[in-house]
Amino acid sequence: MTTQALELYRSAPRYLSARAVGNMLPGLVSGPLAAVRLVNRKDFEPLGPGWGRVRPLLSGICGSDLATISGKSSFYFSPLVSMPFVPGHEVVGELLDDVDDLPSGTRIALKPVLSCLARGLADPCEACSAGLTGRCDRVTTGHVSAGLQTGYCADTGGGWGKMFVAHRSQLHPVPDELSEQRAVLIEPLSCAVHTALRADVEPNADVVVIGAGTIGVLTLLALKELTKAGTIAIVAKHGRQREWAGAFGATEIVDPKEATNAIRRNTRAIKLKPERGASFLLGGADVVIDCVGSRSSLNLALRTTRAGGRVVVSGIPTEGADLTPLWFRELELVGAYTGGYETLGTGKGKERKHAFEIATDLALRNPLDGIVGATYSLRRWREAIDHALGAGKLGTLKVAFDPRMD
Ligand SMILES: [Zn+2]
Repeated sequence: MTTQALELYRSAPRYLSARAVGNMLPGLVSGPLAAVRLVNRKDFEPLGPGWGRVRPLLSGICGSDLATISGKSSFYFSPLVSMPFVPGHEVVGELLDDVDDLPSGTRIALKPVLSCLARGLADPCEACSAGLTGRCDRVTTGHVSAGLQTGYCADTGGGWGKMFVAHRSQLHPVPDELSEQRAVLIEPLSCAVHTALRADVEPNADVVVIGAGTIGVLTLLALKELTKAGTIAIVAKHGRQREWAGAFGATEIVDPKEATNAIRRNTRAIKLKPERGASFLLGGADVVIDCVGSRSSLNLALRTTRAGGRVVVSGIPTEGADLTPLWFRELELVGAYTGGYETLGTGKGKERKHAFEIATDLALRNPLDGIVGATYSLRRWREAIDHALGAGKLGTLKVAFDPRMD
């Protein structure tokens, strides 16, 4: 039996030329240069006990997927993946096999990390033992090929195909009342939950979220629900993004060009203009969360956080930034990669819950309909990727594949 899937294959010159065109207009990346192709390949087989087959219902296109396809992601990742792989780690799917306690037909959201448990390692690493699977040290070892997550591993397949395989540790059953369109957002929402908690927001703190794509607005939602932030300003480039930010309760929505001025005003900071480069503040926000990952977004975060404040890196940083403010303002620079077991509350009210459980609860209670703005068949992958690359301008937050469509 064969499975239809989109595949990212290694081809050095093509990979490099994708990097060269990565900064150009949408429409070019998904042209002939992209190292992506639609293939019919041999079915993926369960990789041992506790593994089963999954039929994706919807699978999102994530900023990290776009960075990988357009050759913008760092070569740092190269030993953490195995080629060729089927991308797609934001998945709601249906089990095709009984997997331990979960019967065939169960609807699941995929916890994408391929941690010690999935790799059959009898003696899990320290991070996995503590429930922090995102920090697993063994993502290149065990009987499964290298791959930090499903969607980056040659052996498992991924959500951008008609079938893939996953381990019980990756399967999060989804309640019946949660629609597919909401369930496919559990994974990005779990990342937003993790980000909001990594931000470690003090009561009444002034928080800024840079970026109002899917991760930006979901991070705004998680901050509203899980922290006692005083104000949450969001930096949004496009009109429709501003509407979503308003709907999710941002205190203020600012244009990137006006962001430094707005933060200065709200925090009564002093603005200084260097001989070259962007202005910066003395004073500023308590916590700034970068949900974009560009040089300018990271510079904006570093330049508008108050002395002793915290910068959270949530979008994959694709380019370097000027770290002078990190030193001079004694900032904390915190990464937020993906959720695991999270600690909620403080003191006696403290509880530990998996980010996927928290995200499922949030997805049931909040108006997420419409965030998935377009779905495509695998065959129309070029249009899908073009749409995702231009999503902000086109007024869409999340573009997803529906591998059931032809
Ligand atoms: Zn581990």
